[in-house]
Amino acid sequence: MEINNTRNSSKESMESSKHDEPIQVRAILSCPNCGYKKKFKNQFLRKDLELLTVAVKVFEFITCNKCGDLIKLDLEFNF
Ligand SMILES: [Zn+2]
Repeated sequence: MEINNTRNSSKESMESSKHDEPIQVRAILSCPNCGYKKKFKNQFLRKDLELLTVAVKVFEFITCNKCGDLIKLDLEFNF
């Protein structure tokens, strides 16, 4: 009979549970020209941070719907 219980995986499982904690992300869009401001709140799992990167790339092309200037994007992370 084979005993297959030699791997100690307790450290691994601890790390993976930490990876599942969501990160609070706040995106603040502001127009340096006219003062327009908008805030978005979202939360991502650590493993889903790729989605955030994609979202940020979309935000980079947003222009102000009041004056047409390019919107400034600030991100706040709450780990
Ligand atoms: Zn503007």
